[in-house]
Formats: sequence, C-alpha cells, structure tokens
Amino acid sequence: MAVNADTVPAVGTQSHPYDVLIIGAGVVGAMVARFLARYALDILWIEKEADICTGASSANSALIHGGYAAQPGTLKAEMNVKGNPMWDHLAAELDFSFERCGTYVVAVGEDERAELAVLAARGKANGVPVTLITGEEMRRREPQVNAATSGALYCPVGGICDPWGATLAAAENAVQNGVALKRRTRFEDFLWERPPTALPRIVGVGANAGDVYTRWVVNAAGLYADTVMHKAGVRPSFTVTPRRGEYYVLDRNQFALDKVIFPVPGKISKGILVTTTVHGNTIIGPNAEEIDDRTDTAVTKAGMHEVWDGALKLVPGLTQRAIIALFAGLRPGGNAPTLNPSVDYQKDFVIEIPTTVQGLVNLGGIESPGLTAAPAIALRVIELLREAGEGLRERPGWSPRRSGRPVFRHLSRKQQARLVAEDARYGRIICRCEFVTEGEIVAEIHAPIPADTYDAIKRRTWLGTGRCQGAFDMPRVVDILARELGQAPEEISKKGGSSTMLTRRTKDL
Ligand SMILES: Cc1cc2nc3c(=O)[nH]c(=O)nc-3n(C[C@H](O)[C@H](O)[C@H](O)COP(=O)(O)OP(=O)(O)OC[C@H]3O[C@@H](n4cnc5c(N)ncnc54)[C@H](O)[C@@H]3O)c2cc1C
Repeated sequence: MAVNADTVPAVGTQSHPYDVLIIGAGVVGAMVARFLARYALDILWIEKEADICTGASSANSALIHGGYAAQPGTLKAEMNVKGNPMWDHLAAELDFSFERCGTYVVAVGEDERAELAVLAARGKANGVPVTLITGEEMRRREPQVNAATSGALYCPVGGICDPWGATLAAAENAVQNGVALKRRTRFEDFLWERPPTALPRIVGVGANAGDVYTRWVVNAAGLYADTVMHKAGVRPSFTVTPRRGEYYVLDRNQFALDKVIFPVPGKISKGILVTTTVHGNTIIGPNAEEIDDRTDTAVTKAGMHEVWDGALKLVPGLTQRAIIALFAGLRPGGNAPTLNPSVDYQKDFVIEIPTTVQGLVNLGGIESPGLTAAPAIALRVIELLREAGEGLRERPGWSPRRSGRPVFRHLSRKQQARLVAEDARYGRIICRCEFVTEGEIVAEIHAPIPADTYDAIKRRTWLGTGRCQGAFDMPRVVDILARELGQAPEEISKKGGSSTMLTRRTKDL
C-alpha cells in the first residue's frame, strides 16, 4: 500500500506511540535527550516551564566535582567519577564553556586539618587523584586565603562549567537530531494498560496539552521526581525535600579569585565555598536549609549572613562593595538509603527501572553532584534500556556536534568588524555591562530552541547579569522580542505565564 501522510498515524497516538518520553528539561533530562538522540527512536521531551533549565540546573555552584566527597559504594560516587572525565569531550563536541581548573578544600586552623585526610582517603577509594598540600603552599598558590590555613586538599580534575550553556547545548544537539521538545507542557498522570497476567504497563502520559502515547517514560523531574514516581505507584516512601542554597555574585571588576575554594565539608553539604565562574565573577555560597516549599527560591537575611560569614572564614579580604546579585537554588534531595545512612547528605541517587511496573526509567534524588554526573546518568539510562531489551540502532545521520552562535565579546577586533559588516545588528550594544549585541539577541530568538522570554535571552547571552542587573538592557530587549516575535511589548514576559514585563502603555492612562 502506498504510504502517505494520511495513512501514517501521527507519532504519540495509541497506534504509533513515541518510543521514549522524557519528563523534565534540566541538565539531567537534557543529557538523557542528547545521548538517546543517537538512536533511531521517536522521542518526546516535555518541560512544564516556558524554557529549559529553570530548576536546580539553573542555580548551583557550577562545579564539575572531582568525586572525593561522595561516599564510596554509592551511585553518587559512581556517577560522579564516571561523569567528571566526560566533560572535556562534551564541551568540545557541544561548544560550551568548561575549565578543568582544579579545586581546593582548605582547612582553617589545626582542628580542621584531620578532615582533609578523611577526604583524601575517600578520594583514593573512589579512584580520584587528590594531593594534600601544606598551609604555606596553599597560601602561596592563593594569597587571598585565610592566614590561618593549615593545609589543603588539591583535586586537579575538578572544574567549572556554564550549567545553562551546557544544558542548552545538549538540548539543541538533541533537537537537531530529531528529539521533539515541548515547553509549557506539564506531566499530570500516566496512562495504563493492565494485562491480567503481567505487570501494569505505562502506555502514555496525560499532560496539560492532552494525552500522549509512549512505550517508555524517563522521570527526570528534579524537585518533582517523587510526585511522578508516586503516580506510577513506585517508591511510595521516597520524598524529595528541597534544600535551599543561597549565593552572592561579585562583580569581576571589583574582586577576582581564580580558584575554587571549599571549606572542610559540613554534615549536610559540601559547605560554603568561594569560587570563580566561567564568566569571571566570583560566587559565594551555598548554605543548606531544608524547606517545605518547592518554589521558594527567595534569599533570606539569616541565610545571607550565614553565607557571608562562611566565606569570610576562607577569604577574609572579601568586600561587600563587590556584590552585584543574590540568588538561591533548591537541591532536589531524596531519601534513598546509601551504604552509609549515618551521613545525611549522602542519601543516594535513584537510577532504576522499577520492578513493579513496565515502561518507566526512574531517576530521583539527583542533588549534587547531579550536574557533574548528568552525562554518566544518561549513559546509565541507555544501559538500563538495553538491559530491558531495547535494540537501540544508531540513527542514520546522527551528529554528536552542535555549534554555538557568535559571542561578540569573545571575538577579536577583526572578527567583530567582519561580523558587523555582515550584519549591522552586531554593532548595536544592548547590554553595556556584559557587552551583548542586538545581533546575538536576535540569533537566540531564532535559534533551534527559540528564546522567547527575557530570562531565556538572559540565560543564553548573559545580558543583564552585570553591575546594572538589566536596568539598561531590559526595555530594549522587550522591544526586540516584540518585533521579532510579532507581539505587542505588553505580551512579552520575563519567564512565561503571567510574568509580563509591562502592564499598559503610559498613554492609555
Ligand atoms: C545550591 C545548589 C548547588 C549545587 N551545586 C552543584 C555543583 O556545583 N556541582 C554539581 O555537580 N551539582 C550541583 N548541584 C546539583 C545539580 O544542580 C542538580 O543535581 C541538577 O541540576 C539536577 O538536574 P535535574 O535535571 O535533575 O533537575 P532540574 O534542573 O530541577 O530539572 C527538572 C525539570 O523538570 C521539570 N518538571 C518537574 N515536574 C514536571 C512536570 N510535572 N512536567 C514537566 N516538567 C516537569 C522542572 O520544571 C525542571 O525544569 C547543586 C544544586 C543546588 C541547588
């Protein structure tokens, strides 16, 4: 029979289901989508928010951890140690910023020094290269550390990345290889088939946009991973408890520290660190506070005091004059048991195909080092699917590469002049602090994953992140978005939904 568009059912219907549906577009969902896109599968990827990377993946310390901190024998340790070396290759293939700059854990005063040996032993057990250095050597390498530094643990394989850039790059590569990404699409429940003699089988999901049929669902819902697995009746006692971490961002023109400096870890986190970002700012934080509200990313007065005091202990010369922004992120911490349950913050990742239902790859509790581990988690998901009998043939024409768009401030004078000659919009500076041009903004609005809100442009171009925090660029970006999207300026939103940036025209008053 001749095949035409009318005889082939649309993908996602009962007779032609997707092969895989991924819930959640943080770094974990993005890496799963990117690595699965290599195979000849129909993949739908849904995200409830207006853009990708707005959850834990958007507000963290941006560290690619060495792997000495995780308890040996846990999935956290295994995924951290497997994920860490993948970042050089990933950054090269996907064109995002990553620096393997090394990290230090600094002991202040004699009492803390013993803890360094514990971490060194854990690093050895996990197969991570670490070296103990003296306080004197640490002060020589970073003169700004506390004069009472008694020693440090150096991990040369630790690094820093741009978590937004990495998530976007992986997501774009997935989309360019055929993954269908639907933002503003919320998972609500599963659709089931209940054979009398076999396990119940997930056959699709109900979403706000309607029902979609699929053979597999990957739960990468971060803070809401427990809600998703409970809808499948899986791990009813597993809960996610958001653990808030607050930060300061310092202006790179006012203060510069080009090292990553951790304190000796506390009981529920790796402690308040002072670190540089790939953009050259110093960031300070995070503290760790368990809270009930999964949406509460407001900073608190008490938290900010705690973070500042913690940072001063490591780097006493920090000055509040350099602060340009504050933010908080929520760690999606779960309660899966580990080999060492007495250490609270080591509660383990969940990465499994549950034995009680068919059709679910279940991820949960992906808190730190989840960013580092994300590519290794993606490979583990593929392994699990193979073990479950999926053939996974390579997709013809699959490409592992994705190229970013020109970043004006990173170009030489000559390259800048050439770009402006080709397109005059690259000659118009919209963000003066971060030197972002109209050409870059327009390119993002029409990119494979279009940026259609102010925050989406900010995440992709870094505009609005400097000393004026968007005061100069904001009205101009609203105008550009309105023009390019063919919308009224009053329709342009900060982050989707009702977050419109203008309420009415002044002359309408
Ligand atoms: C303060 C802090 C510091 C950290 N520092 C580091 C670090 O330095 N290094 C490191 O390796 N890790 C770090 N982490 C951990 C790391 O950020 C997380 O492990 C990682 O980002 C988790 O990614 P994710 O994709 O699982 O979750 P998320 O990024 O939260 O993504 C989950 C997505 O699922 C979507 N979603 C949820 N429910 C639904 C639904 N019903 N329908 C559709 N979509 C849905 C959400 O909107 C969200 O976009 C830190 C975390 C925090 C908060």
